[in-house]
Amino acid sequence: MTPLAGIIAARIRATGPMSLAEYMRLCLMDSRHGYYATRDPFGAAGDFTTAPEIHQLFGEMCGLALAQAWLDQGRPAPFTLAEPGPGRGTLMADMLRAIRVVPGMAEAAQMALIEASPHLRQVQRERLGDVRHLDGIEDLPDNPLFLIGNEFIDALPIRQFQMTPEGWRERMVGLSDTGLRMGLGPVVPLNRPGQPGDIVEDCPEGAAFAEALARRIAAQGGAAILIDYGGWNGYGDSFQALRNHAPEDPLARPGEADLTAHVDFAALAAAGLRGGAVVSRPVRQGDWLAALGAPARAARLAQAGDAGALQALRRLTDPSEMGHLFKAIAFWPAGAPPVPGFEALEAHADDA
Ligand code: SAH
Repeated sequence: MTPLAGIIAARIRATGPMSLAEYMRLCLMDSRHGYYATRDPFGAAGDFTTAPEIHQLFGEMCGLALAQAWLDQGRPAPFTLAEPGPGRGTLMADMLRAIRVVPGMAEAAQMALIEASPHLRQVQRERLGDVRHLDGIEDLPDNPLFLIGNEFIDALPIRQFQMTPEGWRERMVGLSDTGLRMGLGPVVPLNRPGQPGDIVEDCPEGAAFAEALARRIAAQGGAAILIDYGGWNGYGDSFQALRNHAPEDPLARPGEADLTAHVDFAALAAAGLRGGAVVSRPVRQGDWLAALGAPARAARLAQAGDAGALQALRRLTDPSEMGHLFKAIAFWPAGAPPVPGFEALEAHADDA
């Protein structure tokens, strides 16, 4: 049993079963035992590898997309260059290198990192220097906002609901004789279609983040790109744990495994539209990177002696690797050109 499992069991004994969202928040962010709060989980020695940790190609393409959006909107200065959940700071470092090629852009950029983990804040400072850290999107200044987030939404706590003959009931973490186990809470009024046994997920913090982001972009100008794994509309039960690059039972080792859920891009798009921004169709990561010219860039890097560039391109774009599972969605203000590699979603499209 992990230290956090004991704490969670004691809490459930005292006050009853907890929602998956509460469980996930404790497992990831508890200040003493939480997964992100205590460690650097990325890379071959950690539990999982993210796109920016694979190769600089990813961050360069992201930086060039934001740079083009900045040029398209008339080079606003100053502007905020923001990233939620920056992990090791690799994506921001690679983006900054790409942005320096654009005259005036780096000088106009005021960097802001939204990061909840004190440990990762320190890692980011070591990588990027004396950066400004914020607790949430509400703390951003009221400047034009150019933001990129990779694998941020999937780390936000989700709730799950299961259809039963009595109606939807929330899935809760409770106790068995041997440890933690999933159970069902009381019936809740949830207005979604479903057959008995169906499970649906909801990420309230993800939707709130996307709506606040879109509201800022609509009011202040700028562009946002969110990249994550997931699809359009729910996936049933997508709650999962990864430890040492292998899946495991998400209730088995609280605090010691990464917990995530697939991102529902339909919910992000709806939140973006509520916030008043133009919202893109989600595009597959592989298609987006190809549209931005990643294959040509990888070929040039390979010619210049970067032996890993072509293999990295394959990992990032191939349908059997990250190319199809990961999607990107963008927000921009009405009247501005689309962010490079994206096209606007028809407000009523349900087939993206
Ligand atoms: N973007 C990075 C890291 C992804 S992991 C990469 O692609 O490599 C998720 C990141 O989000 C971590 O930095 C984690 O500490 C941070 N995070 C998770 N929940 C958060 C929250 N509620 N607020 C701010 N940061 C959060």
